[in-house]
Amino acid sequence: MALRNILKDGDPALGKVCRPVTEFDEKLAQLLDDLADTLHSTDGVGLAAPQVGVLRRVFIMDFGDGVIEAVNPEIVNTKGAQEGPEGCLSFPGEYGIVRRPQKAKLKAQDRHGKWFYFTGEDLVARCICHENDHLDGVVFKQHVIRMLGPDEY
Ligand code: ZN
Repeated sequence: MALRNILKDGDPALGKVCRPVTEFDEKLAQLLDDLADTLHSTDGVGLAAPQVGVLRRVFIMDFGDGVIEAVNPEIVNTKGAQEGPEGCLSFPGEYGIVRRPQKAKLKAQDRHGKWFYFTGEDLVARCICHENDHLDGVVFKQHVIRMLGPDEY
């Protein structure tokens, strides 16, 4: 078990475009395991590699029924729209209303390089879009319609 430090607002790594993963090796497996340990030490549902300073196209999500690992992910389809509160482990204590698709279909590779599809709705779709944005150096505050006050969440 290894926890990595989650970078916070203002760290330049959060604004960088990440590079694709090309080696499906032990180092990638270690990164994915560490991301899971780090995510599970928080109350968050998703964590992207750049948030721990690794500029590679990798994120994970966990909604309570197991870790979903996405390597070199692409959002291939979206449907509908939802507006709701969103936060980020790199912006502790900050929440805002963000508009996201209601449904999002992801294409990604697993830790062995095998491609798979994954479709999520509601919170899952929100998380897919939020984490995928991190890989292009985009953070949720760039999409916020309105920040929430401390009495609103
Ligand atoms: Zn985030």
